[in-house]
Amino acid sequence: MSVIDEVIAANTLYKETHDSSLYSPNPRRKLAVLMCMDTRLDRQAFGLDFGDAHFIRNAGGIATSDAIRSLLVSHYMLGTEEVMVINHTDCGLQKASEEEMHQLIEKKAGKPPSMPVRFHAFTDVAQNVHKQLERLAAHTWVRKELILRGFVYDVKTGHLTEVPWTCRRT
Ligand SMILES: [Zn+2]
Repeated sequence: MSVIDEVIAANTLYKETHDSSLYSPNPRRKLAVLMCMDTRLDRQAFGLDFGDAHFIRNAGGIATSDAIRSLLVSHYMLGTEEVMVINHTDCGLQKASEEEMHQLIEKKAGKPPSMPVRFHAFTDVAQNVHKQLERLAAHTWVRKELILRGFVYDVKTGHLTEVPWTCRRT
């Protein structure tokens, strides 16, 4: 049995007790979190319950154009008012350069990519958070009423540290 088959079996049990009235598409606490997909980052570390926030996740917690697309939907259509960008220590994107990642994957895949891929590799995690905040703030649709703050999560201690950043949006 594959893991997907196990998930399907678990859902068969789950649906017996599912109560759709408990859920809303609008995040209860009007929060959106852009963070890395790393398994060590969990909403419980931030005191967030099911339905409290949108979690927009990708490798690194990067403000890619697609992450920005999701944040715009989250804010304008589903009412979120605050955004947290969370990167973390020991991130996979710190372990190899952009070129090394390309070389490694091309070797494993046995062929070049059919479309351009950018991994957003980085070295300094706090600096990387800063970069994502700047990228978000530079978008004309990310209006100043939307609160943006950035953090580094330490996977060893579970501690969340805010990255100082002054928003210069007008
Ligand atoms: Zn990561």
